[in-house]
Amino acid sequence: MQPEPDGLARLVIAIDGPAGSGKSSTSRGVAQRLGLRYLDTGAMYRAMTWHLLTRSVSLDDVDAVAARAAEAKIVSGTDASVPTITLGGVDVSVEIRSDATTAAVSQVSAVPRVRQLLKEMQRSIIGPGGIVVEGRDIGTVVAPDAGLKIYLVADPAARAERRAAELTDQHERDVALVEAALLRRDVLDSTRAASPLAAASDAVVLDTTYLTLGEVIGAIVELARQQADR
Ligand code: C5P
Repeated sequence: MQPEPDGLARLVIAIDGPAGSGKSSTSRGVAQRLGLRYLDTGAMYRAMTWHLLTRSVSLDDVDAVAARAAEAKIVSGTDASVPTITLGGVDVSVEIRSDATTAAVSQVSAVPRVRQLLKEMQRSIIGPGGIVVEGRDIGTVVAPDAGLKIYLVADPAARAERRAAELTDQHERDVALVEAALLRRDVLDSTRAASPLAAASDAVVLDTTYLTLGEVIGAIVELARQQADR
């Protein structure tokens, strides 16, 4: 689908928020509705984590992490209907969702050199705009000039329910365990020194606890059209 022929073709929509707040489904839906590109920056942090885990790099050794991070050849597709991610030319879309990756990603993403490398890649993909970018620091650090910034929030119990429903393995679907893991990641992501999870001061905060996915997408599409018409 071609971008609509107006300000939308240059618009950058930043969608940030904690784990399980609905960022991915929302961001993909908004991009598809508006014919924009889509970038999942969390997938890039996950691919970097997988790269380090498969090379047996000790994640406690920040210098080793920084040194080996530069070797990672991560390529993110930007088609919202078929998001792709490769590492060294190999599809790692399954590996980056593994328990091992999820448990380690917040430690890796706290390393300033990792953030610097990925921020440069993200900015070059964003380029002239026409894209929905989801993450934790898009509105604050990666694209502070984004024309529309959304910060999604939802009650922890609702986030855990949604995340558990996405998991296929029965033993992983214990909602209390999922909630504990989400909250652990929230604490690590929002208390790290390097670009922590935070709402930009000019972000629209949307609480999705009692909204359907369609309602959240519709609200953001409306805001994007208003912004593009300015
Ligand atoms: O969005 P997702 O849950 O897949 O992100 C995985 C992890 O990647 C987050 O918990 C966070 O540690 C890191 N991340 C980040 N900055 C971003 C996107 C993700 O630090 N912009």
